[in-house]
Amino acid sequence: MMNHSQAAEEFTHDVDRTTWHDKTLWFVREKRDKAVFQIPEWEALREAASRIKHNALSNLDEYLLEFEQNAINNGVKVHWAADGREHNEIVLQILRETGATQMVKSKSMLTEECHLNEFLIEQGVDVVDTDLGERVVQLAKEPPSHIVMPCIHKKKEEIGELFHEHLGTEKGASDPKYLAEAARQHLREKFLTRRAALTGVNFAVAETGGFVVCTNEGNADMGAHLADVHIASMGIEKIIPKAQHLGVFLRLLARSATGQPVTTYSSHFHRPRACQAMHIIIVDNGRTTQLGRPDFRNSLKCIRCGACMNTCPVYRRSGGHSYHNAVAGPIGSILAPNLDMRKNADLPFASTLCGSCSNVCPVKIDIHDQLYKWRQVLAAEGYVDSSKKQGMKVMASVFANPKLFRFSGKAGRTMMRLVPFSVSNPLNPWYKQREMPEPPKESFREWYMKRSSKEQ
Ligand code: SF4
Repeated sequence: MMNHSQAAEEFTHDVDRTTWHDKTLWFVREKRDKAVFQIPEWEALREAASRIKHNALSNLDEYLLEFEQNAINNGVKVHWAADGREHNEIVLQILRETGATQMVKSKSMLTEECHLNEFLIEQGVDVVDTDLGERVVQLAKEPPSHIVMPCIHKKKEEIGELFHEHLGTEKGASDPKYLAEAARQHLREKFLTRRAALTGVNFAVAETGGFVVCTNEGNADMGAHLADVHIASMGIEKIIPKAQHLGVFLRLLARSATGQPVTTYSSHFHRPRACQAMHIIIVDNGRTTQLGRPDFRNSLKCIRCGACMNTCPVYRRSGGHSYHNAVAGPIGSILAPNLDMRKNADLPFASTLCGSCSNVCPVKIDIHDQLYKWRQVLAAEGYVDSSKKQGMKVMASVFANPKLFRFSGKAGRTMMRLVPFSVSNPLNPWYKQREMPEPPKESFREWYMKRSSKEQ
């Protein structure tokens, strides 16, 4: 598997794609800003959301049990899954009991995290993703590259090609309206014929046992309303204590995600329809471990709006697939090492630590601080390259010794002037996409000393 910088290098080879990926996500970030500036109480909303989540995480056991009891009282069957494998087995078991061999699935990053599609397909179940972006990446046999806009890395011409191959649209057609209509017709047939539907859960309300699913396409509703069995998969952190708290989160979510005042469909599910079965699977998959890490527990406040990705200069220019994790970007880089430190040790380093992610986060997660802390944990646990560690030790001793610092600066400037190849060569990744700067004749200190002595 390629690490983040190797995968990012592949992505940035296509300069046009990198440029429009960057611009498109920045456009979404600007839309978010415009929507946010219209809400004078925005900061108060963020603070409220952060505190509600803090309360929920601090009393998670009680709220989860309250939610379970209320959901059971509503006629819902509740299951608990310790990890992704158990979650997938439960879904399969429900499908077998129902006699369903086909299922429609709306957007759920949790099922991506559990690799549900691959598992079900291996078991002979036909799974169709019904979110348009998810369907595009499913047809392309790729994972989503963004948690809200799963195929943001694809050009409309590429989607046209895919649809021509799989849905029989006209060759060369790339008009978004035409392609969306083709997808609508294709998915309608799936909704009408599948007996089982799986949705994600955006918020699960402890006091009612109900849950809310937010989509812009209404695909979750189409699936859940037409199927004989509705399965809803949720991570344990999706719990909120009361229904009145939804007002806080629903106002924050859509504005942070896409700059919309509200998600087009915020559907509330409480109990199964007559003749329908409803199941909720509550999944841990590493979340309680993260909850037990004081420096990182706040990451479980995440409502998966994607705002930290849209603003991140590294994500915008390296693409979601370079993060080799279901959830990409800054928040994914905090969540992933918790699941597998060795595999994901590179991700907390894929950040400039500029703090823009923390500034836009609607639940006030200290994202860049956590990325910085993960680097320290990973270095202490021995998951950082020894060459990087040695390099940092040398840097630290140079910075700690003024004489050595001045000597190194002088030596470096001389080397850059006399033997520029010593630094600007293909072995030095820093210069792969950068121009060699003109070495200055003197250091800032030398310039300053000269200037000060002239003035006296
Ligand atoms: S960390 Fe914050 S900004 Fe990023 S996806 Fe989660 S809620 Fe949104």
